[in-house]
Amino acid sequence: MTLHALTILGATGTIGVNTLDVVARHPDRFRIVALTGQNQIEKLAQQCRQFNPRYAVVLESDKALALQAMLAGTQTEVLVGMEALEFVSSLPEVDSVMAAIVGAAGMRPALAAARAGKRVLLANKETLVMAGRFFMQAVHDHNATLLPIDSEHNAVFQSMPASFFRHGGDRDLTAHGVRRVLLTASGGPFRTRELDTLKDITPEQAIAHPNWVMGKKISVDSATMMNKGLEVIEAHWLFNAPPAQIEVVIHPQSIVHSMVEYFDGSVLAQLSNPDMRTPIAHSLLYPERIEAGVNWLDLAKIGTLTFETPDLRRFPCLGLAYQALAAGGAAPAMLNAANEEVVAAFLDKQIPYLAIAATLDAVLQRLAEQPAESLADLLAADAAARITARELMAENYANRV
Ligand code: NAD
Ligand code: MG
Repeated sequence: MTLHALTILGATGTIGVNTLDVVARHPDRFRIVALTGQNQIEKLAQQCRQFNPRYAVVLESDKALALQAMLAGTQTEVLVGMEALEFVSSLPEVDSVMAAIVGAAGMRPALAAARAGKRVLLANKETLVMAGRFFMQAVHDHNATLLPIDSEHNAVFQSMPASFFRHGGDRDLTAHGVRRVLLTASGGPFRTRELDTLKDITPEQAIAHPNWVMGKKISVDSATMMNKGLEVIEAHWLFNAPPAQIEVVIHPQSIVHSMVEYFDGSVLAQLSNPDMRTPIAHSLLYPERIEAGVNWLDLAKIGTLTFETPDLRRFPCLGLAYQALAAGGAAPAMLNAANEEVVAAFLDKQIPYLAIAATLDAVLQRLAEQPAESLADLLAADAAARITARELMAENYANRV
């Protein structure tokens, strides 16, 4: 059997590590072509020694030199920079690309994979938020296969009729009998916290997610529910769903990962323990199912599954995302970019928790109506939103630390 050849972008992150965990369970099925990372060079070197990729990619030349020294005597070639990320995403020998870089930085290599007609395993939701129209067009034009790794979208993917994703199809929800896509959300660590104490939330509290272990940025996004907002936009592009057909429902146990409602009243769902290895394993050799190493779901032990409607006063970021999606054009890209800036500032204790949503709201108002005719436009909108977010934070929270 030929080995499935894989590039993992963001191999040192949570999704990257989980992907390698699944891959290691099936050594006779996969071959790693490239692993990439940004800062954790030691960890990347260790992964390279274990999986023996042909290439390892980092972003800066001093890190490349350090990695090269660590990998002396191995067969792994160290490459550096954004072009190298695009190169290892589009090599002819690569079958699938796991796109698991965090943030807008992941967009170019994910796009390169789509343009090369790869199977793209997309964890990096920011690519779709920022440039959904161009990314989906590239997938279509180059006959790429797009498999969502985000657990909710993976659940929707599994609950949709397979014909919906057939290449060249009209991807019309109504024509496939689908009334709504229901995205579940855990509600994060502050779902029941007293509203008047939200102002005191610290970064440590915000990244302590009750159900999932994730990178810091997505953990803060889960606490504010911006993560769900970004996922609404992600669902819009993946499933060609108008905002009115995407509903968010809070489900604190994180067992039902999302649902699809049909016109006959049926609701199909995907359930599993909250472990990203399930959507990863689902996608790695799709449609073949392989073992993921996860615990089997014991519903009797879990006992109760509950659902509630999100409160937009508690989670204004969710409302902002719907607003940006309705505004269209460059608004989602701006929201995404500004969010990266404010979350970094919050993690760095430069701004208080409530300033996250307040700043994002102000950025969207100040920067309304940017052009979005090309990728260059979106990158410009991204840059403008970052500058405006930093300006607003400097104006309002300058003397905090
Ligand atoms: P993480 O912070 O744990 O890892 C991020 C990875 O990206 C690391 O390998 C890091 O080295 C690399 N990276 C960071 N900045 C980079 C840059 N500027 N250029 C190149 N590489 C860079 O993040 P994560 O939790 O693994 O999330 C990765 C992506 O997957 C995010 O888009 C996130 O929204 C999405 N996702 C994650 C989860 C999860 O459970 N962790 C679930 C759903 C979706
Ligand atoms: Mg998710």
